[in-house]
Amino acid sequence: MTESGDSDVIVVGGGPAGLSAGLFASKNGLETTVFDADGTWMHKAHLFNYLGVGSVGGSEFMATARQQVDDFGVDRRQGEEVTGIESTGDGFVVETADGSYDARYVVLATGANRDLAESLGCDFDGDVVDVGVDMETSVENAYATGAMVRPEEWQAAISVGDGAAAALNILSKERGEHFHDFDTPGDAEAVFGDLVDDE
Ligand SMILES: Cc1cc2nc3c(=O)[nH]c(=O)nc-3n(C[C@H](O)[C@H](O)[C@H](O)COP(=O)(O)OP(=O)(O)OC[C@H]3O[C@@H](n4cnc5c(N)ncnc54)[C@H](O)[C@@H]3O)c2cc1C
Repeated sequence: MTESGDSDVIVVGGGPAGLSAGLFASKNGLETTVFDADGTWMHKAHLFNYLGVGSVGGSEFMATARQQVDDFGVDRRQGEEVTGIESTGDGFVVETADGSYDARYVVLATGANRDLAESLGCDFDGDVVDVGVDMETSVENAYATGAMVRPEEWQAAISVGDGAAAALNILSKERGEHFHDFDTPGDAEAVFGDLVDDE
């Protein structure tokens, strides 16, 4: 069956960068779809260098991250590979083997694979996709994150930061002012009640 659908944000790639972008966007009210072919390098990694996380296997880290984005409402299409993206002027059409999807923003989080950025017409700086600190490419409302924007410095913590920066920039555009995703102990208590221990 051919599927179709509209999202505010489509994220291509569900590694640390893509899931981080999806989390921030969906948690703050944007309809967000993440397509992921499940080739993340995290399946080969063990993390000792992710601040705040002592020691965790890469696949275990991904399982927690996937549950976290699911809990915050991301439409996560695991195993659905994106085959093409086109700009329509006021948004994007994303093609997969299963269907065609519209979105106003796209976040590219395909690791070191830069093919979609190239076909979308994003400017490059040498071999890497050219972005600023907000991760927006030369194509308006298209963002690039993680290994595709760096020659070599590929660490999970950096990719997670890139995804967050992209989504926060999208949220700031949507709201017309700088958006801060700040939660407090009171928010956690409202959600988890007695389970919260904020020592
Ligand atoms: C052996 C090894 C050990 C490592 N150890 C560490 C470590 O100790 N600490 C650390 O911080 N980092 C480590 N890393 C690096 C870490 O894995 C990366 O920094 C991290 O995975 C990058 O995240 P990302 O989201 O940018 O890209 P990725 O994790 O590569 O995720 C990209 C995702 O996009 C998907 N994708 C690609 N194209 C498409 C498409 N067209 N449609 C749909 N989905 C698509 C891929 O299948 C993949 O799931 C290690 C890597 C390796 C290889």
